[in-house]
Amino acid sequence: MLELVERPILILCAEAETGSALADALKSFGFDSIAFQRPAALLVALAETKPQAVLLDDTGLEGGLALQELVQRLSRIGNWPLVLLSSQQTIVSQIQLLRAGVSDFISKPCDPSKLADRLDALLENNEPIPYRILIVDDSVASGHWAQKVLESSGMQAKHIQDPLEIFLWLQRYKPDLVLMDVYMPHYTGDEIARIVRQHPQYDGLPIVFLSTETRLGHQLSARRMGGEDFLVKNNDIEQLISTVSIVADRYRKLRRALTRDSLTGLLSHTHFTTRLQSELFLSTQSDRPLALAMIDIDHFKNVNDTYGHLTGDAVIKSLARLLRHCAQEPDLVGRYGGEEFCVILPDMTYLRAAQRVDEWRERFAAIYQLTSEGKFSSTFSAGVASFEQGMSVRDLIEQADQGLYRAKAAGRNQVGLAKMPSQVR
Ligand code: GH3
Ligand code: MG
Ligand code: MG
Repeated sequence: MLELVERPILILCAEAETGSALADALKSFGFDSIAFQRPAALLVALAETKPQAVLLDDTGLEGGLALQELVQRLSRIGNWPLVLLSSQQTIVSQIQLLRAGVSDFISKPCDPSKLADRLDALLENNEPIPYRILIVDDSVASGHWAQKVLESSGMQAKHIQDPLEIFLWLQRYKPDLVLMDVYMPHYTGDEIARIVRQHPQYDGLPIVFLSTETRLGHQLSARRMGGEDFLVKNNDIEQLISTVSIVADRYRKLRRALTRDSLTGLLSHTHFTTRLQSELFLSTQSDRPLALAMIDIDHFKNVNDTYGHLTGDAVIKSLARLLRHCAQEPDLVGRYGGEEFCVILPDMTYLRAAQRVDEWRERFAAIYQLTSEGKFSSTFSAGVASFEQGMSVRDLIEQADQGLYRAKAAGRNQVGLAKMPSQVR
């Protein structure tokens, strides 16, 4: 079971076997899930836990009114997604169920991989990740005020007084937006913004200036210096929150479209490499271990040849989802090539990382894909390497690749090490 998943998906299904098969399938995708046969048991569980979502299988509950009553009762308990897995529902009954509190419908029989896709989309919308705002302001009072205001609206904020520390915090905190004071003792906000813009990885990062300055001319010149917007320091809470959230939202959407692979939602090759570079920097600074895994689906050409390209795509997506759930944060996983993935394992020693990847390997082999020609499962091979001081991104990737080559040569469906355990420090 995943340590990272705190809240389960609860399933109600009158047929015990179907319910537990569904729970197992969802577990293999990284969702912690529990199946119940009777509504009463589900209600007891809901009194004790707050789920990520509740799935209702309508088999055995089709009796119209009973189902509606149950939905009404459930929707009064909490506001998590309530998904109905149904074989046949007319539009009229769907509308009634929507009114009663069902949030989504999925038709049966449901392919676990498609169900997992839907859950991903539902849960992502349901629990948006708060914006992270870096405030650069020499004034304790004004920085503290902005931090409190932003935090009170659900954002995360970090205030630094020394503008020279900005690169350290851009790396560490990975803000969605920088709120920059214009007048600071030794350097102005415009100057700092111009220096930040010299670095290609921060080219698109929005910088909103904060200043007591109200003259339009100066505001415009600040924009030319690389600021996204300009706010007058007038303690207007609404204005601060709305400007920051609108600009941060726009940047996040843009960044997502630019940095993610469209099939899997994972970081694309280039952006993964940039991320790896910054993780290596942090690892060097803090002298903490870091491992890299290179993962490649076995005999994937056969999957395409036998079941078609679309099924091949589904296999790629299911591995992507599994890795996203298993990694500490989604940004640590990249789609390196067609059926090749890369995962950064920060703070993890070499052998521990290999063990971890081996758990994922077992989990992936247990996922099945449903096709019209029956069901099948795929496997992957992986190579693991550990970062040592002085290594470049390229060195580390090459080492992981060597481990992968070993795993393939030794028969696939296994994890290969770049070095033998006796060489491991
Ligand atoms: P091995 O076990 O040695 O890794 O064998 P393999 O067949 O997996 O490796 P090979 O590199 O020969 O084939 C990879 C195939 O992956 C070839 C390519 O057509 C396919 N592929 C690459 N990208 C995609 C994609 O986005 N979707 C699908 N369906 N197939 C893809
Ligand atoms: Mg390959
Ligand atoms: Mg392959």
